[in-house]
Amino acid sequence: MSINKRLWSKKVSQLTPYVAGEQPKVSNLCKLNTNENPFPPSQKAVAAMQAVLADDGQALRLYPEPESDELCQVLAHYHGLQREQVFVGNGSDEVLAFVFACFFTKELPLLMPDVSYSFYPVYAQTFGVDTKIIPLDDEFCINPKDYDTACVGIILPNPNAPTGILLSLDDIRTLATNHPDSVIVIDEAYIDYADDVKSASAIGLIDEFDNILVTQTFSKSRALAGLRVGAAFSNANLIAALATYKNSFNSYPVDRVAQAGAMASILDEDYFIKQRQAVIRLRNDLTESLVALGFKVLPSAANFVFAKPYHTSLSTKEIFNQLREQGVIVRHWDKQRIADYLRITVGTAEQNQRLITALTEILS
Ligand code: PMP
Repeated sequence: MSINKRLWSKKVSQLTPYVAGEQPKVSNLCKLNTNENPFPPSQKAVAAMQAVLADDGQALRLYPEPESDELCQVLAHYHGLQREQVFVGNGSDEVLAFVFACFFTKELPLLMPDVSYSFYPVYAQTFGVDTKIIPLDDEFCINPKDYDTACVGIILPNPNAPTGILLSLDDIRTLATNHPDSVIVIDEAYIDYADDVKSASAIGLIDEFDNILVTQTFSKSRALAGLRVGAAFSNANLIAALATYKNSFNSYPVDRVAQAGAMASILDEDYFIKQRQAVIRLRNDLTESLVALGFKVLPSAANFVFAKPYHTSLSTKEIFNQLREQGVIVRHWDKQRIADYLRITVGTAEQNQRLITALTEILS
């Protein structure tokens, strides 16, 4: 059906929305396309959410606490920050949208890598933010020297998506030092899959630089993508801007169930550690298997790998399509620079084996 936009505002008529990875309705698919966690969330988080629904769901009659104060306290304590340095929202996508609205709608352009999270250009369009795209180097790495240009801010995922490559804290320091009047946003959706999270996360730089803002999510390492909780960490001044924007948009973005589940997940550290280490091991095994099949695999610090097939006359798109026919869904972009790559989410050992078996057949 073609949509009649006669009554739409000019602005909305001109938007090109983000297209999320497919959430297929068919069962028995091997779903390795949207970087979800292959393992369940903390059972303590599940129990905490069930407790909210106890008593015939009486608690749901009431609005949730608008600032998610307890959850912010728990997050602050977990990361060694003050409560005023934490903000939570309805998924990190919402938090990122608020970041664009709060800090980037000024004259200078926002800098972002040419290969990164494809929602950033969409937010830029939504909020009327000028952008300047900075190409990754030939190895698909971010080189801080390439960012030496006047800007309102810089946004990048770390590890980068879809490459999985981690940028060092020294490089992030360089960006923050070179741009003292710009907001440097480090989107750490996948940071918990870095081998050493503490020395990889820019949360450790927040007290040193007043212009660094870090976002994280419960959707990946906490296996709660269906809950929609994301967070921002920064100094109190930038966090206050996000709270101001939130309260000018929607007072209650994080519902009661989500606040309870997210909080219990943070408090269940044992399960978190075990589960993230399992994913890291599975990532390393998957990388080895793909290399053995003739793929070039970029070094990943995330729960996905970015891999390019060699020694085959098939195009990557054809391989993607044939995988789909076999019920294995991964992600492929028909975009310059990355059209030869597949982004593959790390699955369970069984899922990864199903992928490798399918690839072996396709490539033979
Ligand atoms: N940043 C990056 C780099 C992502 O890949 C995603 C997930 N698509 C997000 C942010 C948003 O995650 P969520 O809204 O589920 O927190």
